[in-house]
Amino acid sequence: MSEKMEFQTEVRELLHLMIHSLYSNKEIFLRELVSNASDALDKLRFLSIASPSLLPSDVELKIDISANDETKILTIEDNGVGMNKEDLIQNLGTIARSGTKNFLKSITGDEKRDVNLIGQFGVGFYSAFMVASKVEVHSRKAGEEQGYQWTSEGTGEFSIDELPKEKNGTKIIIYLKDEDDCKNFSQDWQIRSIVRKYSEFVTHPIYIHSLDKEKKEETVERLNEKPALWRQSAKSIEEKQYKEFYELVSHEGGEPLAWSHTHVEGAQEFWSLLYIPSKAPFGIRYASEQSRGLKLYVKRVFIMDDCKELLPNWLRFARGVIDTEDLPLNVSREILQSNKIVASLKKHATKKILDTLQSVANDRKEDYAKFWVEMGAVLKEGFYMNWEFLDELKNLLRFKSTKTGENEFVGLEEYVARMPESQKEIYYIVGESLPAVQGSPHLEACKSRGYEVLFLTDTVDEFMMQSLNEFKEKKFHDVALGDLEFEKTKEEEQAEQESKKNYEKLCETLQKVLSEEVSEVRVSSRLKDSPCMLVRAAGGMGAHMEKLMSLQGMEMPKAKRILEINPEHEICKNLLQKAEAGDDLGSYPTVLYGQALLAEGSVLPDPSAFVSAMNKVLLSK
Ligand code: ADP
Repeated sequence: MSEKMEFQTEVRELLHLMIHSLYSNKEIFLRELVSNASDALDKLRFLSIASPSLLPSDVELKIDISANDETKILTIEDNGVGMNKEDLIQNLGTIARSGTKNFLKSITGDEKRDVNLIGQFGVGFYSAFMVASKVEVHSRKAGEEQGYQWTSEGTGEFSIDELPKEKNGTKIIIYLKDEDDCKNFSQDWQIRSIVRKYSEFVTHPIYIHSLDKEKKEETVERLNEKPALWRQSAKSIEEKQYKEFYELVSHEGGEPLAWSHTHVEGAQEFWSLLYIPSKAPFGIRYASEQSRGLKLYVKRVFIMDDCKELLPNWLRFARGVIDTEDLPLNVSREILQSNKIVASLKKHATKKILDTLQSVANDRKEDYAKFWVEMGAVLKEGFYMNWEFLDELKNLLRFKSTKTGENEFVGLEEYVARMPESQKEIYYIVGESLPAVQGSPHLEACKSRGYEVLFLTDTVDEFMMQSLNEFKEKKFHDVALGDLEFEKTKEEEQAEQESKKNYEKLCETLQKVLSEEVSEVRVSSRLKDSPCMLVRAAGGMGAHMEKLMSLQGMEMPKAKRILEINPEHEICKNLLQKAEAGDDLGSYPTVLYGQALLAEGSVLPDPSAFVSAMNKVLLSK
């Protein structure tokens, strides 16, 4: 006797939404049904712990799928816990969860908004009606004798009939709609590729039954062979397996530099398996919006690749998987962006990757140096894109410096440890390339005192320095700044005063001639070998930054700098004599200013004027 029943009002609304507007991505119905089947298998296994007779030892828990291209019928069958009449009515006729009810109350009719909302709720089974003109559910509850059939066309009602069924479990029979984007789901290859995409790591075996038309034989093939490595205990996994899995998730091959594998239980439950590659993924430095992020799984079911919400942009080189128990399967992009669970997963991933890098930096110095060359510049972006992990990031920084050898780097910890006692600050110089900074006159004062200077030659460095103020209470100081001061002896102090007085005339004259170029000319106490250099007032923009801005098309009014001259240098002494004698300085000021620019790696504003000035100097006696 067939019993007809009405769907609960909420279900009717949900079905209407499902059928008319919900997903452009229809294939996900299969993911939902496979996931329901897998849950039913888990439930039976759980019940069998208390009642072993429910699951005889020779029974394999499994999911069978078959697609018939002629009849356009698709079936998904499991031998799990099954449903009796009450279960069918309750589970497939009403919506029990209050969350979903609330959702339906908040439906506005604004389709776009509703579709976003619905991502927050499980609507699994009903998604079958996106592709089905009719759905039959044949089910028999484990431990009971009577089977039942539930049938509906997704409109206002469903019917329930008694049905003899040999075994416990549930079989979902889908009569595909005649539309192209629905009836295609009866094709074997389609089903294979969808199952492989979403359900590769479902624990229970998924078999596909196909009909070999020539031999008129049924063939059975298992679709998901791979274990979800991240769900196994780390102790049971060999290094080789981790490396194989890396190839699978990275699509880049090569060896991972390191990985982190965690299972977190508590307020939330999730698994993460995160890798750091040993070679930078292609294009990683420049294309920051390129594919990045982790694979997101919910309850072993694949949700999406390159989930950007799980990883900050400055860790875009990392690869891996996060599998959570706490999100619904049909979670949407919009929800990911504002979801608390996702935010805490992202924090976890960030922390784990930084911790893993730190242990490589501690234990495998050479490997870390290689990583640094490949991906250090990306990591540095973290300094101007986050505030949370600055301490971790500081410890991961590596630099070339006045004291590092070839292929060698220094970290801040090491830098501070080897500072001479008299040194109070951390010194650095910014420039375009190593050769440009290595020869800079700005280094002379530090070098002569044995103070190490860090070389910052990455494009991001100048931005990074804006949030890198101190390390272990030592301030960072740019040696190109005019306010660099060291402790002086009485004698030094006196000598300085004297040369200041001596050079007054020359400084005045130079300043007049170079008034377009510099704000001030003064005697330097920092120069050893070079005749002069340009320094800038604190707060002024560095030469390198100025260049970057102009490359970006942002011409800034050039801040004039200070020209410092070396009182001990022969050239300066010569000029002093000339100035005191009231002689014309001729081309000397132009050459002096020009070489100060060249020595720090800057570009001459007017190279031909410089060359002709230099020629005049070379010809003069
Ligand atoms: P959800 O899976 O998010 O709870 P669904 O609408 O997909 O929502 O399913 C509703 C309920 O129907 C499930 O909670 C489950 O109790 C039952 N159910 C669905 N599919 C099966 C199945 N294959 N075997 C047993 N029970 C099922």
